[in-house]
Amino acid sequence: MAGRTADAKRELAGLIDAKAEKFTRVSDDIWGYAETRFDLPKSAGALISALESEGFQVQRGAAGMEHAFVATYGEGGPVIGFLAEYDALSNLSQVSGSTEKKPLEAGGNGHGCGHNALGTGVLAAAVGLKDFLAKEGRNRRATIKFFGCPAEESGSGKAFMARDGVFAGTDVMLTWHPWSETRIWGTSSLANYQVYFHFKGTSAHAAAAPELGRSALDAAELMSVGVNYLREHIIQDARVHYAYTNAGGESPNVVQPSASVLYFIRAPKSNQVREIFERVTDIAKGAALMTGTAIEVEWDSACSEYIVNDTLARVMYENMMELGDLEYTASEMDCARGYTDALPDGTADGVARIIKRSFPDIDPDKARAMASEPMQGELFPYAMSDEAMKGSTDVGDASWIAPTAQTLVTCFPTGTSAHSWQWVAAGKSSIVHKGLIYAGKIMAMTALDAIDNPDIVANAKQEHINRLNGEIYNCAIPKDVVPF
Ligand SMILES: [Zn+2]
Ligand SMILES: [Zn+2]
Repeated sequence: MAGRTADAKRELAGLIDAKAEKFTRVSDDIWGYAETRFDLPKSAGALISALESEGFQVQRGAAGMEHAFVATYGEGGPVIGFLAEYDALSNLSQVSGSTEKKPLEAGGNGHGCGHNALGTGVLAAAVGLKDFLAKEGRNRRATIKFFGCPAEESGSGKAFMARDGVFAGTDVMLTWHPWSETRIWGTSSLANYQVYFHFKGTSAHAAAAPELGRSALDAAELMSVGVNYLREHIIQDARVHYAYTNAGGESPNVVQPSASVLYFIRAPKSNQVREIFERVTDIAKGAALMTGTAIEVEWDSACSEYIVNDTLARVMYENMMELGDLEYTASEMDCARGYTDALPDGTADGVARIIKRSFPDIDPDKARAMASEPMQGELFPYAMSDEAMKGSTDVGDASWIAPTAQTLVTCFPTGTSAHSWQWVAAGKSSIVHKGLIYAGKIMAMTALDAIDNPDIVANAKQEHINRLNGEIYNCAIPKDVVPF
């Protein structure tokens, strides 16, 4: 690393450390709010007031969503976008710091995906970079855009923002996710359509006058049978899953007049999902025809596959290496052990297998040793592939608009998983605080590289064009669908 840049990065990291307490307080506050989906007044409010107090101009109500926003600082230079999330999950309420499952509020929400830290790690990056640019005056110019994105969990807020052009004009997009490892995100993700199929029939007494009834529940069941036969004839990598959100009622002696099924249809490419979705819709129409019922298709949401960017990811990786391993105090290790000791037998073996599968170059003994550590402070090697991980994220939609890189940073004990009560319990620990500050530094340093080296932006954009191979972003969510 050139001396000038090395000094600049040390200064930048120092500026983030100087406000660490401010950032971690916002993270803890958002943990406490635990708001879900699109309804995030306090969580978005906490980030907005922190950004406004730092001199960012905030535009609320992005893409028609009350708690989506764009906070901007600076002008000219490359436009550096940071993606922030702050939504929690339902039914994951949990007492902070408890190493056994213990809801804080029965049926309440909880930050089981660490988005309290995600949003504030991004805040640390944006504010740190702003402080640095403010000191630099005219020497370095850039436009910082903090995108406040609601409903990552199941609502795909970023897809609505991408559909409405909120990310347009961004040169480089950066984000992160709290995880149980520190590594650069190096895979694609599955595109996903989330669609309701509502059947409407005619109710009747199921014993006295069944011939007068037309069962919507029959239609929903026949649709599921049809889709389960379809599985043989779709690509291996596709995933189709469904939940009955309305089975008609609780009385078997009534012909059920309404039934609804929510389908998730996923595949590595958006156009593959579209094709499967059309066949699933035909099956739904067939089920309606068979049962003499009516079918209505209602969109919930959708997200696109993630477009990796090797150019940006490598820059991010260099910065991660520059920062080095995360280190934990003895009491932090004890705290983590409280969670890992309570995990089911065989969890460490499972973790070792995952490490081996993702990083074939790590030798088996080393993978086992890593898996038995309560915290993964050591950095994982760089690995990049076009393969999709078996999940979906709305970061995918943003990655179609601008070259995007994201890093995972250790915030949670080894072997614990996303969307678990353990992640909620550990969400206000010093381990998470350390992780979000570390993530803020990686993102801010990567942004600084992009500001100082126009080649990075140009190469990342060229790679982006090559990977899209002529395809243009086409949001799967129809224009008239509003987020709910
Ligand atoms: Zn999640
Ligand atoms: Zn998440």
